[in-house]
Amino acid sequence: MKMAVLSSEERFKNIEYNLAVIRQKIADAAKESGRKPEDVKLMAVTKTVEPIFINHAIDCGIDLIGENKVQEFLSKKPYLKLGGCEAHLIGHLQTNKVRQIVSEVSMIQSVDSVKLAREISKRSEAAGKTTECLIEVNIGDEESKTGLDLSLLMQTLEEISLLPSIKVKGLMTIPPICDDDGQLRKYFSQMNEIFVDIKAKKIDNIDMSILSMGMSGDYEEAVRCGSNLVRVGSAIFGPRLY
Ligand SMILES: *Cc1c(COP(=O)(O)O)cnc(C)c1O
Repeated sequence: MKMAVLSSEERFKNIEYNLAVIRQKIADAAKESGRKPEDVKLMAVTKTVEPIFINHAIDCGIDLIGENKVQEFLSKKPYLKLGGCEAHLIGHLQTNKVRQIVSEVSMIQSVDSVKLAREISKRSEAAGKTTECLIEVNIGDEESKTGLDLSLLMQTLEEISLLPSIKVKGLMTIPPICDDDGQLRKYFSQMNEIFVDIKAKKIDNIDMSILSMGMSGDYEEAVRCGSNLVRVGSAIFGPRLY
């Protein structure tokens, strides 16, 4: 397929338009699940997106961005006009990159082991801060995927709750690619049940307030199932060109 090359002006307009459409769809889905539009946070996922377009999304009101790779984010950061816009790391994090990132983002959404959490706590303590994080759950139990096995979730939460400089704020997931909406809904609903159950347990130092699920193709379904943070990339910025 031939892809039309858009001018920056056209891409700016598309970003503005896409954001308006997505905000409306999130608002509708939130209402359908008995919540207010402002109860659901929209993250713009900015991997592979150049700083001028990220800055444009921020000008259009985006106040949360997500990046997958430590190196990519650090190299783009000097060009970003973040102001009050927060940045989260959402991609798989290796322990040897933790030191570089803890002071650069306000949350790490991809914590999937006690080992990684220990390193985040240690490096955060050295930097004089506490790092907020989400536990990434491998809800589809896929061997190829990142994320923590469901069977290890409670034990992992309890161990992480004892670490001094990391604070769990909720859960994140990327469900398997599903052929039918019913299956997808099952995964999202299961995540919501787990989230609600853990919240009810009121574990010391574990704050279950964020349920991060839903991407460009499925954020409406995710919100209907209880998500309160959606991570949307290509539906805002257009297809990624690698
Ligand atoms: C890339 C990515 C997204 C956004 O994907 P889109 O389909 O472009 O919306 C969300 N979450 C994670 C963890 C990602 O890596």
